[in-house]
Amino acid sequence: MKFHIMTLFPEIFEPIIQSSILGRGISQNLFEVELINIRDFSENKHNRVDDYTYGGGAGMLMAAPPIYRAYQSIIASIDSHALVRTVYLTPQGAPFVQGKAEKLASYDHIILLCGHYEGIDERVLSMIVTDYISIGDYVLTGGELPAMIIIDAVARLLPGVLSNEDSARFESFHDNLLEYPQYTRPEEFMGQKVPEVLLSGHHARIESWRRERSIERTLERRPDLLEDAVLSKKEQKFLNDLKKDLQI
Ligand code: SAM
Repeated sequence: MKFHIMTLFPEIFEPIIQSSILGRGISQNLFEVELINIRDFSENKHNRVDDYTYGGGAGMLMAAPPIYRAYQSIIASIDSHALVRTVYLTPQGAPFVQGKAEKLASYDHIILLCGHYEGIDERVLSMIVTDYISIGDYVLTGGELPAMIIIDAVARLLPGVLSNEDSARFESFHDNLLEYPQYTRPEEFMGQKVPEVLLSGHHARIESWRRERSIERTLERRPDLLEDAVLSKKEQKFLNDLKKDLQI
């Protein structure tokens, strides 16, 4: 998997791609990140990449030609049989969710286009973008932080990036449930003990305790997820009883 980031501010990405789990994944060649400075593709003598919007209005818009040339340079470097998505990060996109991260993780190349200022000329977007993604209903100054979020969420799903693959499979949003509460040493902290069952060594009881806590937590914090949760008959009954108790 290779991420190609089209941005006016490539330097913003350096710390995140050099640190922690992502940095290790890159140094182990588990995935690659290429930074493409859109400004390098400006043919303006002052290297300008933005201009006033037709029809008036405040703010500048990123112009189509440098973005298109930058995109063409990426495409020229990619094998024609490779699976490619081109994502424009925009508050007008579909909300980014775990399921989308999982889908993106199956592609060979992800091109991430970061807007700035008022955004990007619509014509180039309609020519190159396959996915419009928003990281939430708020407006940021640029697409760089959203692009980092996509890279982080997708890269950690790639084989080998997390040291224990299970930790990506059994966490929040798996089966549309939030993860259960977790504890580490010490066994007692300021009078609060680790739940007895977790010290029992009884795997089936621990698994069942964790599933119930997941259901409880999801009902409390993200009841909207439960509509599509994958529950056994016994778990569904547990949920129904919980709702009855809480009079939901
Ligand atoms: N004028 C645009 C609009 O109203 O939809 C907003 C432009 S915003 C100030 C500048 C850039 O930040 C966008 O082109 C986009 O790349 C990025 N951006 C801002 N908010 C975002 C969000 N919630 N999700 C993803 N990208 C976002």
